Amino acid sequence: MSAILEVENLGKTFGGFTALNGIALSVAPGERLGLIGPNGSGKSTFVNCIAGDFATHAGAVRFKGQPLVGLKPHERARLGLSRTFQLPRPFRSLTVLENVAVPLRFSVPPLPEAEAHSRARDCLDLVGLQDKAHLHPHSLTQVDLRKLELARALVGEPALLIADEVMAGLSHSEVDQILELLFALNGRGTAIIMIEHVMRAVTAFSQRLAVFVAGRKIGDGDPQAVLATPEVEAAYLGT
Ligand code: ADP
Ligand code: MG
Repeated sequence: MSAILEVENLGKTFGGFTALNGIALSVAPGERLGLIGPNGSGKSTFVNCIAGDFATHAGAVRFKGQPLVGLKPHERARLGLSRTFQLPRPFRSLTVLENVAVPLRFSVPPLPEAEAHSRARDCLDLVGLQDKAHLHPHSLTQVDLRKLELARALVGEPALLIADEVMAGLSHSEVDQILELLFALNGRGTAIIMIEHVMRAVTAFSQRLAVFVAGRKIGDGDPQAVLATPEVEAAYLGT
C-alpha cells in the first residue's frame, strides 16, 4: 500500500541554526514507527513542521498523497493528521469532557454539542478517563493529563497520530498503561509515530525505528538492526 505520510528533503532553520536537514521519512497506513534521538536532535521540530505549526524552508510533505504546503494545523488535522504536544495543553477552564469535545465543535461541519459530547465520552472510555469527565485538568495526575492529551488528539479519529514524548516522567506501570492504549489505537487502524526516550516502550512498540541526531536522520529500519549500527550506538547511546 502507498505511504500515508511522505516527507522529502525536509529542512528547517531558526535564524542561522539548522534544526532539520534533508529529512526523508515515510509512514505506511497503520504502521507503528518509533522516532528517537538525543534532546535537541529535532524531533519536536519535525512534528511541528509536519503538523503545520512551523513553516519549512525546504522539502515536501504529503499526507494521503496530498501536498500539505500552505495548510494550517487545523486543516491538516481535518485531513486526519493529529499530534500531541510534548507539554500537554488542555484548556484550563473547561472540564475534561469539554476539552475532548472542542475539536469536534470546530470540525467541518461542526457537530452539535450533544453529539460532540457523546463522541467525546466514547473517547474518554477508550483512554480510561470516563470517571473523570467532569473534572478540570488541574485536578488530574500526570498520567491522566497525558491520557487527556491523547484523547484530544484522537477524538477526530485520525489516520496518523504523532505522540511526542507522552510517556516522559511516568512510572513503569503508567508507561505500560499508555503503551497499551497506543497499541489499542493502532489496532483500530491508526498509524502512530511514537517519539520517546523510554527505550523499552519504543522497542516493544515499533515495527520500524528512525533515529535523528543533530537534525539529520542517521538510521531507519528494523529496530534491533538500527540500534546495533555503529553510528547509532556512538551518536545516540554514547558508547
Ligand atoms: P527534540 O524534540 O529532538 O528534543 P527540538 O526539535 O525541540 O528537539 O529542538 C531542536 C533544536 O531546535 C534545538 O536546538 C532547539 O533549541 C531548536 N529549536 C526548537 N524550536 C525552536 C524555536 N522555536 N526557535 C529557535 N530554536 C528552536
Ligand atoms: Mg522534543
